[in-house]
Amino acid sequence: MRENPYKDTSKEAEQVDYAGENFIRFSGDTSKHAQAQMFAWEAQHAGVDVHLLAEPTKAEKLKVAYVGKKEDIKSSIQENILERYGGKEHLRFPPKALLLAQTEQYAEYSRTGKIIKGADKAVISSRYEEDIYFNNHQSVWGSYWKDGQWGFRCCHLTLRNSYCTVERSKDIEEGKKQVLRWL
Ligand SMILES: [Zn+2]
Repeated sequence: MRENPYKDTSKEAEQVDYAGENFIRFSGDTSKHAQAQMFAWEAQHAGVDVHLLAEPTKAEKLKVAYVGKKEDIKSSIQENILERYGGKEHLRFPPKALLLAQTEQYAEYSRTGKIIKGADKAVISSRYEEDIYFNNHQSVWGSYWKDGQWGFRCCHLTLRNSYCTVERSKDIEEGKKQVLRWL
């Protein structure tokens, strides 16, 4: 079980005897180790003879040097671009906390941090189309049931692909009138 089974109760993670095992994936040195492994693989791919488990110190040293150089290059490129084209003033923006301090979404939280009001979860829409009538039917398939068979309420037919047999005299009269008007 990866998720915390006590998530919807008000108990804190320290109070319960089991809090799911997801936190192991995102805590401690796990992500650091994953990054080091990725770096070692990429370096090996690029032709550097390094192995994370066989030579952890070498791998770490290489990684530190690589990250430092990468940052240097990145900042020097950025500086060159700004020097040539200008526009340094656009990079100066207020801190994110200030930018995001105002929002139109309203939400109320309980003491335990659960949402009481507002910010509802989005309703998952059905993958099936709704209220789509076909074959001239005026009701959906499944709107009628008799003797263990599903059908259409409008004509009581129990064949899925049947064409509606209810005569709509009103519609026909209307259509005739329309045609006469055209003539
Ligand atoms: Zn029908």
